[in-house]
Amino acid sequence: MSAKGDMFYSWTKSDSIKGECGGAVTSLLQYALASKTVDAVLAVCKGADLYDAKLELITDAAEVPKTAGSLHCGTLLSAKMVKKYLGGAKDMKIAVPVKGCDAMAFYELAKRNQINLDNIILIGVNCGGTVSPAIAREMIADKYETDPDAVFKEEIDKGQFIIEYKDANGVHQTRGIKVDDLEETPEGYGRRMNCQRCKCKIPRQADLACGNWGVIGPKAGKATFVEVCSPKGAALLDAAISANAVEVCAPDQKGLEIRGKVEGAMLKLGDKNRKKQFEKLGEGSERLEKIMKITSRCIACRACIENCPICYCVECSTAKPHLINQTQVPPDFMFHLIRFAHIADSCINCGQCQELCPVDIPNALFMHAQQVELEKMFGHKPGYSMELPVLAFAEEPMERARLNATGSDMIYENVFGEQQ
Ligand code: FAD
Ligand code: SF4
Ligand code: SF4
Ligand code: SF4
Ligand code: SF4
Repeated sequence: MSAKGDMFYSWTKSDSIKGECGGAVTSLLQYALASKTVDAVLAVCKGADLYDAKLELITDAAEVPKTAGSLHCGTLLSAKMVKKYLGGAKDMKIAVPVKGCDAMAFYELAKRNQINLDNIILIGVNCGGTVSPAIAREMIADKYETDPDAVFKEEIDKGQFIIEYKDANGVHQTRGIKVDDLEETPEGYGRRMNCQRCKCKIPRQADLACGNWGVIGPKAGKATFVEVCSPKGAALLDAAISANAVEVCAPDQKGLEIRGKVEGAMLKLGDKNRKKQFEKLGEGSERLEKIMKITSRCIACRACIENCPICYCVECSTAKPHLINQTQVPPDFMFHLIRFAHIADSCINCGQCQELCPVDIPNALFMHAQQVELEKMFGHKPGYSMELPVLAFAEEPMERARLNATGSDMIYENVFGEQQ
């Protein structure tokens, strides 16, 4: 019987699963579905090409093996999809593979009653970072001098972004460049900026945290290091072992130490990159002026709001004509101030608001810089637990009832003591 805190090497027992590192994750997902522990698996699969990723909701266990493998360029955030399209898993049980930012988003939406975490099994995958699809293509053409369409595998391993491709003579080639070197380039190659700042490398908020760090010796590349993070994770792993879906063994002691060291080094790198990126923003009024200048190219498309896991309001304040002129482009700076005020304390640095901004406004950088300051001041760490944020947030139904009763969304009294 396993328990929270236990660690194993694990691999699939199925010949039909060709996983990234032994296929344990795919097997666990398949077992969860086959055993009816869940009604569906929401996995990440290859989209239009290697640089694209899509979510697929699978209800037939035989279909799960096609989702095996890690995609380092697709930049999806599964939690918002569960909220938007699967009713927040209110009435269905789902198993989902999650990177750190996905797991954090699940927690932030769950604490706002937008997702039912009781119905979800989160199978965490360690994450060293992702590369924006457009940047990946450009970088491969420029720095690797290779046709991005000839690449059939990409990975980040031992500090390198590695591609495998067939050259003009049809010969299999492998080429890696140090991620550090790519990130020093003026073009901004390498991992997404938010990934460079990320400190959620082993997602222990999930039920299981799985990755290749620490797998050494004969099992290297053929097994996944699994850390049990909750009783739910322990129950799934035990049941999958009993059903002969996965096999486990004790991790190599040296591997355990290596995993700890790599995680420590990644966290230090995250701190270093935060300092570097935030310093460039300046401080105080200089920072504010910079943000005002850069956001002045906003076209008010609302992609940053639509895709932010913290923004879930039915009626967004930025869409209210008495707060923001809805016909003006760029919108008043208040458009951005509203978002900063509402969600900065809970930003999980997922990067979606930046990735999807059509005019390349570094929204995540601005928001994350504020979140880090607020965390220092108030101690609230978003995305790691069900603890509520420091700044009050309104319960949508209660707020709606109040609006209906008062006909006003202004929560203050006028000089005559009447609520507006
Ligand atoms: P598989 O059986 O191959 O299953 C992989 C699962 O991951 C599938 O369910 C698939 O749907 C899902 N998946 C694929 N791409 C994504 C994605 N972009 N977002 C969310 N889910 C996805 N491990 C480390 O120890 N160090 C790292 O630095 C590291 N970086 C990673 C970066 C990314 C972007 C990803 C996705 C994984 C990373 N991993 C890392 C985890 C590692 O690559 C394996 O996923 C893990 O060891 C499990 O291997 P497996 O063979 O059991 O997984
Ligand atoms: Fe991975 Fe963190 Fe980037 Fe998310 S933000 S993709 S967890 S490195
Ligand atoms: Fe993610 Fe941006 Fe929302 Fe922060 S503000 S949680 S980076 S989408
Ligand atoms: Fe996000 Fe605020 Fe709009 Fe709600 S009102 S969706 S928190 S910006
Ligand atoms: Fe403005 Fe970019 Fe947000 Fe669109 S995604 S509203 S352009 S900041």
